[in-house]
Amino acid sequence: MSDSVNSTKDLPETGITPGGTTGAFRDVLSKDHARRGKPPLHFADMTEDERIAKAKDLGLPKFRVKQLANHYYGHFDVAAEEFSDFPAAKRAEAAEAFFPTLITEVTRQVADEGTTIKTLWRLFDGSLIESVLMRYPTRTTLCISSQVGCGMGCPFCATGQLGLTRNMSAGEILEQVRVAAKAMHDGEVAGGLGRLSNIVFMGMGEPMGNYKSVLSAVRQISAMPPEGFGISARNITVSTVGVVPGIKKLTAEGIPVRLAVSLHAPSDELRDELVPMNKRFNTTQVLDAAHDYYLASKRRVSIEYALMRGINDQAEHAKLLAKRLNHYGDNWAHVNPIPLNPIEGSKWTASKPEDEQQFLDILHKAGITATLRDTRGQDIDGACGQLAAKEQD
Ligand code: SF4
Repeated sequence: MSDSVNSTKDLPETGITPGGTTGAFRDVLSKDHARRGKPPLHFADMTEDERIAKAKDLGLPKFRVKQLANHYYGHFDVAAEEFSDFPAAKRAEAAEAFFPTLITEVTRQVADEGTTIKTLWRLFDGSLIESVLMRYPTRTTLCISSQVGCGMGCPFCATGQLGLTRNMSAGEILEQVRVAAKAMHDGEVAGGLGRLSNIVFMGMGEPMGNYKSVLSAVRQISAMPPEGFGISARNITVSTVGVVPGIKKLTAEGIPVRLAVSLHAPSDELRDELVPMNKRFNTTQVLDAAHDYYLASKRRVSIEYALMRGINDQAEHAKLLAKRLNHYGDNWAHVNPIPLNPIEGSKWTASKPEDEQQFLDILHKAGITATLRDTRGQDIDGACGQLAAKEQD
């Protein structure tokens, strides 16, 4: 996280760039980007030592912290008032000290016969964020937000239009996961009892812009209970629009999460227009870093590519993309062309089906693995790039 951003009074902490210097990328800030104070400290935000110290303040011995961790990570439970293995006199205090309410459901939209659920959440300061649960026959994926809004300013994206309000805390990020895991565990999602199996950081925000909290959340999602929710790191996807220092840091962590890079264009000329961050880190720098991630993690990198009619979806674009990827060798990337979901009042529209097909065919012929990404949740505005946190009446 950049100190110069943190020390600049009217800027939120973005963690991406110092901003303001020649050539630096600056986050696009929302109208209400001013700092709003920090979210209440939650069990998930505390180190083990901090938890023990807090428990001590409440007159609780160390082993009580382990009990709380078992409830939180093992049973997705924060209702400390009802923890029957906990001293009755201390339950309310423990609930308040460790499990403040960080996210409150505002609305819930359901599609695909109850198997896609988009939830709008209000945070402690009134900020709105969203998460989307998608249940499939063999897996259940939750798409989560890591920032309020997004500062990357991609012109075709609803979230980008909002600008960045602030980073979310690890607790706020994790609470989206806990609530969804509990709903699956309790059989509240169509299809009966189940298990939340996959997490994608593709909701609101640029995860690398909030690296510290995102990484803390990744660790707590993937660790086995009572240290975490026990969702394999291999089933977690961290996406980025191409913040190269973030990709490098993630490579060095050695956690086998999948990396997804939102490329959206095969050349700098076009990408400069679609993804402003490209002016800071160009396609060569981004692809180099992504390929290094593949080499270090042995996990194929997802290349996300929103197909926009007449802009980046023609044969020449597919050919250039194939060439750029094949430059690094075979089979290291998986391209996910995504039909763009047009946002209201936008000049960017979805590709024609025949152009989508042609794009895929060209990639396949060049030996690139590519599958048209599922745009589940489209009828509730829940596909990627559309999480604009609109409060419904
Ligand atoms: S496409 Fe991704 S990085 Fe770009 S503005 Fe939207 S959410 Fe941010």
